[in-house]
Amino acid sequence: MTIIGLTGGIGSGKSTVSRRLEAHGVLVLDADRVAHELMERGRPVWRAVWEAFGWAVLDACGALDRARLGRTVFGDPVALGRLNALVHPAVRAALRERTAAAAAAGVPRVVWDVPLLIEGGLYREVDQVWVVYAAVEQQVERVMRRAHASAGEARRRVAAQWPLAAKVAYADRVLDNTGSEEDLARQVDALVAAWGAS
Ligand code: ADP
Repeated sequence: MTIIGLTGGIGSGKSTVSRRLEAHGVLVLDADRVAHELMERGRPVWRAVWEAFGWAVLDACGALDRARLGRTVFGDPVALGRLNALVHPAVRAALRERTAAAAAAGVPRVVWDVPLLIEGGLYREVDQVWVVYAAVEQQVERVMRRAHASAGEARRRVAAQWPLAAKVAYADRVLDNTGSEEDLARQVDALVAAWGAS
């Protein structure tokens, strides 16, 4: 089993790469999606989060209200650290379990799609790190277009993260998304085709 850690920065094209890999039938485990699942009402992480942050982070149905939770931790590094300490270990455990199950079923490789792969240290557990790279101005422009954000807002969101150039230093492969989406798709196709040949 080969584990590939896929990461990037906001608007760099990571989700576009993930979708392309899935279209090729590659197993992709999306850390954000796993986190959503683990925070569903009744799950242990759901309980741990509202016990830590109080009833105010629940909606009328008792589900975690992600917008309220986001506002609770926004700009408060201590609160964000507490939330991450409740969620991240459970996400990591789920990724490991699902990977082990896939390996047992004979799946040859899995892609872990993790926004904070490098920052969170999970890059140490993968066999290869792939970083999707775009220039800062392209990230800003793509975030503006996708999220209908203002230039200032998009710029703040990009600036809040590690610069992609720093992530590239950890990369075994860099997917260059400074061109068109078709260029990016061709790079993914070539990597998948190379597996077929090996
Ligand atoms: P990420 O997951 O890294 O935040 P996405 O894959 O969601 O990034 O891409 C962000 C937005 O930019 C999406 O709307 C996507 O369609 C668009 N996009 C991605 N790559 C390109 C590209 N090469 N040229 C133009 N737009 C792109």
